[in-house]
Amino acid sequence: MASQCFSSSSSVFPTPSSSSHTKVEEKWIGSFPLKRRPVHLRLYSSARAALNADPKPVEIPRKWYNLIADLPVKPPPPLNPRTLQPVKPEDLSPLFPDELIKQETTGERFIDIPDEVVDVYKLWRPTPLIRAKRLEKLLDTPARIYYKYEGVSPAGSHKPNSAVPQVWYNAKAGVKNVVTETGAGQWGSSLAFACSLFGLGCEVWQVRASYNQKPYRRLMMQTWGAKVHPSPSSITEAGKKILEMDPTSPGSLGIAISEAVEVAAMNADTKYCLGSVLNHVLLHQTVIGEECLKQMEAIGEMPDVIIGCTGGGSNFAGLSFPFIREMLSGKINPVIRAVEPAACPSLTKGVYAYDFGDTAGLTPLMKMHTLGHDFVPDPIHAGGLRYHGMAPLLSHVYELGFMEAIAIPQTECFQGAIQFARTEGLIPAPEPTHAIAATIREALKCKETGEAKVILTAMCGHGHFDLPAYEKYLQGDMVDLSFSKEKIEASLANIPQVVA
Ligand SMILES: *Cc1c(COP(=O)(O)O)cnc(C)c1O
Repeated sequence: MASQCFSSSSSVFPTPSSSSHTKVEEKWIGSFPLKRRPVHLRLYSSARAALNADPKPVEIPRKWYNLIADLPVKPPPPLNPRTLQPVKPEDLSPLFPDELIKQETTGERFIDIPDEVVDVYKLWRPTPLIRAKRLEKLLDTPARIYYKYEGVSPAGSHKPNSAVPQVWYNAKAGVKNVVTETGAGQWGSSLAFACSLFGLGCEVWQVRASYNQKPYRRLMMQTWGAKVHPSPSSITEAGKKILEMDPTSPGSLGIAISEAVEVAAMNADTKYCLGSVLNHVLLHQTVIGEECLKQMEAIGEMPDVIIGCTGGGSNFAGLSFPFIREMLSGKINPVIRAVEPAACPSLTKGVYAYDFGDTAGLTPLMKMHTLGHDFVPDPIHAGGLRYHGMAPLLSHVYELGFMEAIAIPQTECFQGAIQFARTEGLIPAPEPTHAIAATIREALKCKETGEAKVILTAMCGHGHFDLPAYEKYLQGDMVDLSFSKEKIEASLANIPQVVA
C-alpha cells in the first residue's frame, strides 16, 4: 500500500440529536418585507404554473455558495487517522488537485464558477423549477408543490454539476486520469461524461451488484470512453482482501471507494474524484439552490418546507444551503427535511462520530453521522442512498439544528413515484422517490390542516435506467427489507475510537 494512504486506528459514540423549528409569519423576498403570499403574487404564480414553465429564464449562477462562511460554529476538521491531527492539505494532494483541496477547506463565502464550467453547465442549465399542479390536484391538497428537476443533464441527474468542475480543475492541474467509485452508476456516468469533454482518462469501480443489474449505466460510461470494473475487483489489494473473505461479495460503495483511492494513491498521473460527501462537492451543487432561489423570487414564492433525499448529502445540500443562508440572515424560515431510506438510515439511526469514508480505512477520519464504515446495506433499489455515512458538513448542520431528517421504506417511496409519474409525467430515479414520498406526506398533512404551504422538493434525477425497480413494484414483488438493529450495532462497534 502506498505510503500516502491512511491506515486504520480506533471512537466515541455520541448520539445524534434531533431538531425543531419555529415558524414566523412574515417573509422577506429579496429586500422587500412581504406579508406571506400577497394576492397579486398568488395570481401571478398560478398563471405561470398553468404554463409549467419559468416566466422568464433566470441566469445560470456565476458563483457557488460556501455555507461554512455563515455557520455560527465551524464544522470539526477531518483527521489523519495515524496522528489524529487535522488533515493537512499535503495529506490530500495524492488524491486531489490543489484547487479542489483549497475549496475543501476554504472559509470564503462565494467561489467563482470558472467560465469553462459555466459553458458546459449551459448544456442543461438553468434546470426547470416546475409546479406539480396535477399532483396537487390528485392529492386534493391546498399545498403548492414545486420541484427542481436536475434530470435534464446529459447523465440524467445532479451529479454532473460537480463532475464537470472536478474534471476541469484536474485537467488544469495537468492530471491525465481520474478514478472513482460508483453505486447505481449515476456518479460514474457523470464523471465519464465530464472526462469525455476535457480529454481525461476515466476508470470506474462499480459496485458489483449494480454492475450486474444495471448494464445500461455501464454502457453509458463506456460510450463516454470510461473503463469500468466490477467492485470488489482483483486489481487492488483492498478488493482482493474482500474477495478472499467473500468471493461472492455484492460490493458496497465503501469497498469501491477503497479500490479507487488505492489506485489514485499509487499512480502519480492519476487523481481520485468523489461524487458526494466532501465539502467541495456540496459546494458545486449549490448551483441548484442559487438558481432555485432566483426562480422562486421571480414567481413571488418562497418555500415553507424544503425536502430532499440524502445519500451522501450532495443534492440535498445543493438545494438547501442557499436557503439556509437566507434563513440564517432572518429572511425566511423554512423547515428543511432530509429523507433517507429506512434500510440505510445514517442521519436517523447512525451515531455522530469520527469514522472512515471507506471500508478499508484508507480515507481520513471524518466526523459524520455513520452506520459504521463496514456496514453493507440491504440491496434496496435506491443505489445512490446506500452509503454508510453522511456528508460531514450536512451532519454538522443537522447537529446545529438547522434541519431535520426522516426515514421512509422503499414501497411507500415507489407508491409516491407512481403517483408522481402518472400526474407529472416524469419517472423519478429511485433516490428522489424518497423526497417525493415525503412531499406527499407533507401535502396530505396540509389537506388535513387546511394549510396552503409551499413545498419545494429536489427531483434530482430520472429513472430511465432503473425500470427493473419499477417492474418489481408494479408486479407486487417489492419488499421493505426489515431494518436490522443487530447489523447496525455490529458495524457501529467497529468505528475507530477517537476522543475529539
Ligand atoms: C447519487 C444520487 C443520489 C445520492 O447522492 P447525494 O449526494 O445524497 O445527492 C441521489 N439521487 C440521485 C439521482 C443520484 O444520482
